[in-house]
Amino acid sequence: MEQNILVTRSSLPDLDEYMEEIRDLWDTHWLTNMGVKHQKFQKILEEYLGVPHVALYTNGHLALENAINALNLPKGGEVITSPFTFASTTHAIVRNGLVPVFCDINDRDYTIDVSRIESLITDRTVAIVPVHVYGNMCDVEEISRISKKYGLKVIYDAAHAFAVKYKGKSLAVFGDATMYSFHATKVFNTIEGGAVCFHNDSWVQLLNDMKNFGIHGPEEVDYIGGNAKMNEFQAAMGLCNLRHLDEEITKRKKVVERYRERLEGVEGIKLTKIQEGVESNYAYFPVVFDSYKYTRNEVFEKLAEVGIGARKYFYPLTNSFECYRNYPTAGTEKTPIAQHTALRVLTLPLYADMSLEDVDKICDIILK
Ligand SMILES: *Cc1c(COP(=O)(O)O)cnc(C)c1O
Repeated sequence: MEQNILVTRSSLPDLDEYMEEIRDLWDTHWLTNMGVKHQKFQKILEEYLGVPHVALYTNGHLALENAINALNLPKGGEVITSPFTFASTTHAIVRNGLVPVFCDINDRDYTIDVSRIESLITDRTVAIVPVHVYGNMCDVEEISRISKKYGLKVIYDAAHAFAVKYKGKSLAVFGDATMYSFHATKVFNTIEGGAVCFHNDSWVQLLNDMKNFGIHGPEEVDYIGGNAKMNEFQAAMGLCNLRHLDEEITKRKKVVERYRERLEGVEGIKLTKIQEGVESNYAYFPVVFDSYKYTRNEVFEKLAEVGIGARKYFYPLTNSFECYRNYPTAGTEKTPIAQHTALRVLTLPLYADMSLEDVDKICDIILK
């Protein structure tokens, strides 16, 4: 059996560096509940992302749920979003008592098709939850224009887009709030973890309470909150991994450039357009097999046979999930480009320490 190439491989600091970072926890015995590491990591992220406030979470999903909750939108309100995403985005909307209205994506970078948003707006529309997909940026300027015109809130799912910059700024500066995920499989990880970035000063206390059972003071609980705090070991991992992030992204870029060299221009193979003004984080390498000599599923199988893991990502679309079957807004026929893409896309193995020999091996199999 040949050696496996997994679709991704989590970044880790040197063990010694992490040990050094967590050493003082053995002195303080302060393991969670907004301890020293949590506070330090939060400050560093606020500077790194260029936003006034960051709230740290135990994972990205709860960060997104809390951010939507903090908007205090009327129950049953409609939220325009795209189905070409991870289950988390749609679930976060629905678990807040809101109705997802699915907008199609564009076929250049697979983010929400902004030219279709306005036709979906009704008098029940309250917000837009767009997703920065694969490290590609949504059309933030057009989304901002639409949201202002109709008075809608905007929360970005930026789980794929940590460290992505537009015109030199992080994406966290756009919208009412931006959620990042620091899950082990993302470009930057805190094992599990997430953050909400925002501008509204009154949210500092609100989000802090929300993620800690609604406890406002020692004898004061004024909110029905859950528990979603980032612990000290997660924050310590974040402090370590952030020191090496630039280097990791440079390595990822080299892998992506090799893939592009080998696959660009091949008939039936479609690669994502490089976005102008955007500094990518090279989070994923999606390939769309459209009338190629092999179907997406055939390529997936060929790679699997030799122990190479690619991922049908995103497939299936969230608007085809069984749990949304009875939702009148569900159904993939309403989002034909998303469905077309979901049936043909594969994300190829990509991580910082991936060798160019492995990239070549994968491309050889695809092109053979
Ligand atoms: C990973 C991911 C999430 C959820 O983040 P977790 O940290 O795993 O909870 C949400 N949306 C998208 C698009 C993701 O890829």
